[in-house]
Amino acid sequence: MLHPDRVLMGPGPGNPYPEVIEAFGRPVIGHLDPDFICLLDETNERLRQVFQTSNPLTFPVSATGSAGMEATFVNVLGPDDVVVVGVNGVFGERMCDVASRCGADVIRVDAEWGAAIEPQALLDAHPSPKVIAVVHAETSTGVRNDIAPIGLGKGDALLLVDCVTSLGGIPLEIDRWGIDLAYSGTQKCLGVPPGLSPVTVSPAAISGFVDKPQSWYLDFSMIANYVTGGGTRAYHHTAPISMIYALHAGLGVVLEEGLSNVQARHQECGDRLQEGLVQRGFELFAQEGHRLPELTSALVPSNRLPAGVSEADVRRQLLSDYGIEIGGGLGPVAGQVWRIGCMGHTARQRNVTLLLGALDEILI
Ligand SMILES: *Cc1c(COP(=O)(O)O)cnc(C)c1O
Repeated sequence: MLHPDRVLMGPGPGNPYPEVIEAFGRPVIGHLDPDFICLLDETNERLRQVFQTSNPLTFPVSATGSAGMEATFVNVLGPDDVVVVGVNGVFGERMCDVASRCGADVIRVDAEWGAAIEPQALLDAHPSPKVIAVVHAETSTGVRNDIAPIGLGKGDALLLVDCVTSLGGIPLEIDRWGIDLAYSGTQKCLGVPPGLSPVTVSPAAISGFVDKPQSWYLDFSMIANYVTGGGTRAYHHTAPISMIYALHAGLGVVLEEGLSNVQARHQECGDRLQEGLVQRGFELFAQEGHRLPELTSALVPSNRLPAGVSEADVRRQLLSDYGIEIGGGLGPVAGQVWRIGCMGHTARQRNVTLLLGALDEILI
């Protein structure tokens, strides 16, 4: 391995904070040990601060972001419940798949890849859906979808938001924006390796829980006693102790630096990267005004590739010669765009400088 210290500038994971790596070294204790329960409570409280919510039911699901997606859908959607889903990339598509497996009646509102979803189009799609679901930060395109206007106009619907690539990276206010169910991931902007999915659930969403969700493992009513149950904790499943240590440490870094300072660091890195790319003749892919700082998408500069070198060759060379990972395009834009992440500990100016310098050396 040429570069053990890889710079992870793909669509995720970002580099973990050093404090997080250190946390994995702590001794493993029992999942009902009072010291562990205390650490879990503290982790949940830190999550409330980062999610900007007072929801008591806030905790990390023991699996990756997609499990958070599945958990939030399966607890509020049963056969024939109506859900409106915004789709402008891979993760909106995944939401439709998950919702239809719950037996729900799925109404899609599509926008082009690279464009943002019109909040009003979601609100107009059905007069009384049980759930309106949308991705905040579409990692497959680098687009930010507006959430607050949906919360304002949602009426009795529950608002379900994918915050996997937004939590800790860009402003996100669960309570103020009227979000009822949200899930995230540890490996994007929180600077922790993959493995947990922080979720938060409003009291209104709890009132809307289906009687018997079609999943045992992800049934929030059953998990709640173990993860947020105060003094009466009982076994539900064995918490991944070391991952909780890691999340606790990552959230600690974010809160110590200050949530708004961390978001500002992501914004500065994204701005500098996007300006640097434009100066070099790149065309940015995501709609202006909706560009994520933590995930930059740009069209592959095919006129600047050396003779006989493909875009995938350039990405391979970045990895082998410079230790930098960036991502390729997915779905309709496979082979046409690059996706560059500045997430968590990766969101540092020096990483932006390193990548732009490497591109200057590789491209013609
Ligand atoms: C990464 C990602 C997911 C899926 O998370 P996994 O941890 O890969 O399961 C879901 N939604 C968005 C927007 C993502 O970026």
